[in-house]
Amino acid sequence: MKVLEKAPAKINLSLDVLGKRSDGYHEVKMVMTSIDLADRVECGDLSENRILVRTSAPYVPEDERNFAYQAAQCIRETYRINRGVEIMIKKNIPVAAGLAGGSTDAAATIRALDKLWGIGMSYEEMLEIAAKIGSDVAFCIKGGTALATGRGEKITPLPSLPPCWVVLVKPTVSISTAQIYKELDSQPIMHPDVEAMMRAIEEEDFQTICRLLGNSLESVTMKKVADIAKIKEQMKGIGAEGILMSGSGPTVFALTQHESRMQRLMNGMRGYCSQVFAVRLCKPFPLLSEHE
Ligand code: ATP
Repeated sequence: MKVLEKAPAKINLSLDVLGKRSDGYHEVKMVMTSIDLADRVECGDLSENRILVRTSAPYVPEDERNFAYQAAQCIRETYRINRGVEIMIKKNIPVAAGLAGGSTDAAATIRALDKLWGIGMSYEEMLEIAAKIGSDVAFCIKGGTALATGRGEKITPLPSLPPCWVVLVKPTVSISTAQIYKELDSQPIMHPDVEAMMRAIEEEDFQTICRLLGNSLESVTMKKVADIAKIKEQMKGIGAEGILMSGSGPTVFALTQHESRMQRLMNGMRGYCSQVFAVRLCKPFPLLSEHE
């Protein structure tokens, strides 16, 4: 038997870093939303009693460093499952790009293995496994639009964003999230108004959502990747309602409700950067336990 799960990327609409905790993690407050740029994760039975991961992208580890592998291992241990699994990951999300590519693969693996192995996990149980793998995995379990607090593992669902296009531009460099958080501690950062962002989402006020886009990590990554400022400037010139770097970067996204602007952004940025995508937003996953 095989179970196929879609694994959508996320963008951060608002990312505030509140401070460093005694456990070494940073306390964050972020509003995230899923987008229709997705990996495909397929979990199937394996005759041997082990975890086998295959990915379509070079440089993505296929051993225990892969977040999908870690999710499968954690589920096998937690639920004492003595079955092997083959996990095939078709990567479409750029790697180390601020789009939670690895985290969403782990979340998709949790959803898939719950079905494949007939565990019947509750949403809360899935969140517990997610928190052990990485900070963004919890959000990716259900996706949609949500507030994430703590180190990112506490999730409060929010209403969907008004319909719009998301144009993403990924500079060629890749960024280590850990490195950006390390450098953050030695410099002043901006703090976006996360509460106001949540209100704007509740009120379905697209223009205010765009005006409030903000990311504490943007200035830190910008110092390392000069292309980010150039991309933002170019996108502004072409015309977008809102522009921001996602997560720890370096991907920059623009929001627009106009198809003609989306087309202009795509055409304008393609000549400048090789990885340019235009996608819609992605709805949250309905989880079985919520219907019980
Ligand atoms: P975030 O936005 O959550 O900080 P990111 O988009 O910046 O994440 P990822 O694409 O998740 O970064 O990749 C970060 C690192 O994680 C990669 O360099 C890779 O070595 C490792 N990794 C582990 N599992 C995966 C996976 N399934 N897909 C991609 N990268 C993975």
